[in-house]
Order: sequence, then structure tokens, then C-alpha cells
Amino acid sequence: MKNRRSFLKATGLVAASTAFAPSTLWSATHPQNKKLGVALVGLGYYSTDLLAPALQMTQHCELRGIVTGSPEKIPVWQDKYGIKDKNIYNYDNFDQIANNKDIDVVYVVLPPSMHAEYTIRAAKAGKHVWCEKPMAPTVAECESMIKACKDNNVKLAIGYRCQHDPNIQAYMKAAKEKTFGKVKMITSAAGYFDGRTDHWKQNKALGGGVMGDMGVYALQGARLATGEEPISVLAQTFTTRPEIYHEVEETAMFQLEFPSGARASCHTSFGINMNYLNINYEKGWIRMKPHSSYNGNNGEMSNGTIIDFPIDNQQAKQMDDDALSLINGTDLLVPGEEGLRDIRVVEAVYKSAKNNELIKL
Ligand code: NAD
Repeated sequence: MKNRRSFLKATGLVAASTAFAPSTLWSATHPQNKKLGVALVGLGYYSTDLLAPALQMTQHCELRGIVTGSPEKIPVWQDKYGIKDKNIYNYDNFDQIANNKDIDVVYVVLPPSMHAEYTIRAAKAGKHVWCEKPMAPTVAECESMIKACKDNNVKLAIGYRCQHDPNIQAYMKAAKEKTFGKVKMITSAAGYFDGRTDHWKQNKALGGGVMGDMGVYALQGARLATGEEPISVLAQTFTTRPEIYHEVEETAMFQLEFPSGARASCHTSFGINMNYLNINYEKGWIRMKPHSSYNGNNGEMSNGTIIDFPIDNQQAKQMDDDALSLINGTDLLVPGEEGLRDIRVVEAVYKSAKNNELIKL
């Protein structure tokens, strides 16, 4: 690859080769002033309460389609959002979306066990894919999703809304610029009390368990604060409500070691309300609380800098950032590869907790 690039550079062909990459061709033929049409797959809590309202605020994309297995939801969504009959699909006829020019992006908002299937079907239909976190329950599924999108020349973004939030970007920047020197130790927590008793989050086959759900926020806190990938994981999982959490864990605690020597202690739970990130550096600290909420993420640095950037709507920002990347043919902020990085650690957490051993990555 390096050789090919240096050859192209030497012959002045880099710009030409980039200009004819399939994704660039798509953006070149897509009218720059036209909003992208988004179809939401799965009309549960997150689509209903957060994404559809946010899509009323976006500048570069709009809600045009729905994919649902619940026919009773169709008139409600049509009344509220004026969705055309021809842009409504169920899980059986979903693949026909390939013939629908109104839809540019399919946003998969289903239980995690269904993410791979619907991402791959959307890619084969020639649609760009936005997929909710956790990307999928296994590394193998994540890899198959990335491959399907590559094979079909479409882009894949993961719905890590926080990475689009300027408050989170502030501590990411400190990692990059080494503002306070090397990271020494991080504590990161993300959890809430979930009172539901029969939901996919408590079902193993559907991709439940707190580690993939809230654990990835604690993990992202540590990964983004160091800007590194962990090299070892030591984890424990446990449950205080076995009558509800008998298939999956209610709580997970995991320690990470990073190549620079930084260590992180991460906690996540469906039984405890907690949301913070403390980063201790050689020459200072950053404290974020909350660090992964829908709004109000804020913090403070040891040099007195306050992190409190205004953001109208995190999900609208995320979807507009991703739509603009597609329109302009630029790199996505959170591509499939970033979702995969987390799932690699999630798998190691489970393996470590199961065998009570340190897992080297
Ligand atoms: P939900 O249970 O409220 O909705 C899930 C939807 O999937 C429902 O419409 C349901 O009918 C549908 N579905 C189809 N087949 C199903 C099956 N076999 N079992 C259960 N449901 C089925 O869940 P949610 O909270 O909306 O979560 C959906 C996705 O969004 C998950 O990946 C979740 O992690 C993610 N999410 C992300 C955020 C975030 O902040 N980025 C927040 C909430 C949820």
C-alpha cells in the first residue's frame, strides 16, 4: 500500500486515484445542497424518543423512512413525521429498500444481536449504514459488517454520539496534545438503575448484558482519554438481582493496562446510577461528570479550564456530522473500525471474568 501510494505520489496521481474512489464518486454525484434521506430500523425507545426528534433539527439529513415489525406504529409515525407510504418497510420486505432513491442511509436501532444482519442487508441494498452501539455482540460479527460495507462501497458509522460532543472532544484533545503529560490512572464509570424485568438488555441471545450497553461508555472514557488501545484486561462481572439478571451480568468492573503504562479502572452497572470520568496525568487532572450523558456533559481541568461547551442536541450533531462526511466524501468521525475496537475489549472482559484470568490483547 505504501509502495503504491509513493508511486502515485511520485507520478502525481494521488488526487486522481482518490477522486475515483467509489465513495468519492457517490459524493460527487450527490447534489451538495440536498439533505440525505434516513430510514430508521427499529422504532423502540431510542428511535422514538431521541433520534426521530433529533432528525427534525438536522441540517444535512432528514427522516424519510421507517422499518418496523409493529404495524400499529405506522400511522403514529406517519401522522407525526409525514412519512410516505412508499418509504415504509417491514423486516421481510426491507431488502427492497435498494430500489428506493429517497433513502440514502439506513440507521440500525435494533437489539445488538440484530445489528450485523441489518447492517449487512442494508449494505447489500447499496445504502450507507449508521449502526447503534454496541456494534455487535462479537468481533466476528463486527468484522463481517465492515467487510459487507466495504464490498458494497458504502460507509459504516457507529452511533457513538459522545465523540461528536465538544465536551468529550476537549479531553480527547488533551490526550492528543499531552497537555498534562502522560496519563497515569483513570477511573471511569457509566451505569443507571434499570427497573425492567423482561427486556432484551437482560437476554443473552438478543445481545444483552451491561458490558455492551453501558460498559462501552466506561471503556470509551478510558480509550479516548489515553488515545491508546488496551494491552491487557482483568475483569469481574456480578449480579445482585439474579431473578432478573440470570442470563447476563448486571454489573462489570474491569481494569485496563495501556501501552504507555496508563491504567484504568472501569465500572458499569444496570443497578447503580453513576457517570463520571477522572483522568490523572503526570502534571494535572481532568474530571468529567457526567461524561456520557445525552446532554450536560461537563468538567474541569487542574489548570482551571472549565469544560462546558453548549450543544443544542447531541444526536442531531452526530447525524449532521455523519451526513456531511457522506456528502463531502470525507472520513467518518466514528467508523465501524472504532466500534470493533470496543467489542474486542468487551470480548476480553467476558473471557477474563469467566476464567478469572488476565487477558493479554
Ligand atoms: P428498545 O427495546 O426500546 O427498542 C428495540 C426495537 O427493536 C423495538 O422497536 C423492538 O420492537 C425492535 N425489535 C425487533 N426485533 C426484536 C426482538 N427480537 N426483540 C426485541 N426487540 C425487537 O431498545 P432501544 O433502547 O431503543 O435500543 C436499541 C439500540 O439502540 C440498542 O443497540 C441500544 O444499545 C441503542 N441505544 C443507544 C443509545 C445511545 O445513547 N447511543 C441509547 C439507547 C439505546
